[in-house]
Amino acid sequence: MKCETFMKRFLENDEAGSLSPAIRIHLFRCARCAGEVRAFRLAMADLRPYEPFVLDGIESARIVDSVMRQPEYRKSISLFNWVGAGVLMFVGIFLAPFSDQFMSLRDHFGGDLEVPFSLVMGVMVTIYAAIFIGTHMDELSRWLEHHKLGGPFRP
Ligand SMILES: [Zn+2]
Repeated sequence: MKCETFMKRFLENDEAGSLSPAIRIHLFRCARCAGEVRAFRLAMADLRPYEPFVLDGIESARIVDSVMRQPEYRKSISLFNWVGAGVLMFVGIFLAPFSDQFMSLRDHFGGDLEVPFSLVMGVMVTIYAAIFIGTHMDELSRWLEHHKLGGPFRP
């Protein structure tokens, strides 16, 4: 179970109800989620004496502030998958002209197939690179800064 799924299920779960085995297993194995659940339970225990909840301005501002300081959830694809997809794509580009399907298409359309194939592959590589860079701006700017390359690139 992924951490996002776990948190969603945990928060949907009524405090009085028991946790499902899958949730218990994730809670046992994942230190990050266990820490968040501990903080959540602590916060709930802190709030219990104030039931029914009537918050003054200062208290609600403090809670909103601590909520805003929570690290944000991001659905991310591991670098291994990115690199794997990129390697597969490049291997495909170099091997595709030798495939039987490509040969038979070339027999059918003549030598004109090279140009549209190169254009399509170029567009695919461009889209891949754009998405990869777009989703890794933080890492990229940190890397550039580390290697003293970050000039106008810095956000
Ligand atoms: Zn987790």
